[in-house]
Amino acid sequence: MPDPVVWKIGQRESSVLSGPLGMCSPEPPLLIVVHVHSQRRQPRQRCRATGTMNAKYVLMNGEIIPATDGHVSILTHGFSYGTGCFEGIRGYWNPDTDDIYLFRIREHFERLHNSCRILNMRLNYTPDELVAQAIELVKRNGWRENIYLRPMVYKADEVIGVRLHGLRDDYYMVAVPMGDYIPTTGIKCGVSSWRRIDDNIIPARAKVTGGYLNSALAKTEANMNGFDEAILLTQEGHVSEGSGENLFLVMNNELHTPSSTDNILLGITRDTVMQIALREHGRATRERSIDRTELYIADEIFLCGTGAQIAPVIEVDHRVIGDGTIGTLSRSIVDNYAEIVRGRRSEYFHWLTPVYRELPVKPHKRGKANSTTLAATPAE
Ligand code: PMP
Repeated sequence: MPDPVVWKIGQRESSVLSGPLGMCSPEPPLLIVVHVHSQRRQPRQRCRATGTMNAKYVLMNGEIIPATDGHVSILTHGFSYGTGCFEGIRGYWNPDTDDIYLFRIREHFERLHNSCRILNMRLNYTPDELVAQAIELVKRNGWRENIYLRPMVYKADEVIGVRLHGLRDDYYMVAVPMGDYIPTTGIKCGVSSWRRIDDNIIPARAKVTGGYLNSALAKTEANMNGFDEAILLTQEGHVSEGSGENLFLVMNNELHTPSSTDNILLGITRDTVMQIALREHGRATRERSIDRTELYIADEIFLCGTGAQIAPVIEVDHRVIGDGTIGTLSRSIVDNYAEIVRGRRSEYFHWLTPVYRELPVKPHKRGKANSTTLAATPAE
């Protein structure tokens, strides 16, 4: 398993602790410094494997600044109470075209806006403006490899007191190199003893920072029990999703996935898989409630998400899935996805936003003409 992303905690040079938590100081003395630019140079390969954040620039409130200036106070509301929402967006490097393709980035920013609505937050940039900022950020860092973009909106006031109203909302974005998040060569999963957060507890439909404690509890339990990933059930006992992935299963040649009302994050990769399955295999996906024991008798299972990509599952709770190898449909979706995200399939160009140059103009049935309109294509 890859090491977790490293966020180092440090002290700003000019700040010296002169009293308890800044009470004697005009500015907060102790700051969390987001060392996005790693201080000790790591070997290149290690940087990729661990996801160490070594970006030179980050974006805060619409402005690109040196990563070493990306400071957040320890009293920040979002840090104390998990009052933030975020996205994870991948960009795939294609060495043949010398470009990075940001995958379905506009849909991610639309979901970020929806999360903000649910959390009573304001994000003062439209999805198109956020796309333009992301492109500029990647360019400024000069990345020429697979990357991961993390935009976050958070309650930024330095106050004590739990609420959502009457607080300032800040926003940042970082772009860092990223390899595989979980193996894509066949993983073993365990059904978690932790239940998935309910829409009326912490809305799973919003990608809320605080909600990821639920994922973290399940993931750690699964890893400590020897599994690669957790599968969480709803309070009612229906299959919901992985700690950071949606779930699909194949039974009797049909594709099934938990319905949107089973406390899942409505994944953009989930939607991508459904569209690939329909277009490439003529299979419509059945969105429905799924019981735990259906996992044990499925012919194929795979998890999917921006980080996880398409991750076939070969065992659940020590029961072998299918014949214990990656199933035919799973394999085909893994392969199609890998091609599509790297810009090797022109019929899916409308999902890609190139960073460094325009995509070749190639009319297809949806009539998209150039990279500008490609970036602005709404979710299908
Ligand atoms: N569920 C959860 C809990 C997640 O964190 C993710 C990753 N964002 C997903 C599902 C998959 O969503 P997406 O395909 O949009 O990345």
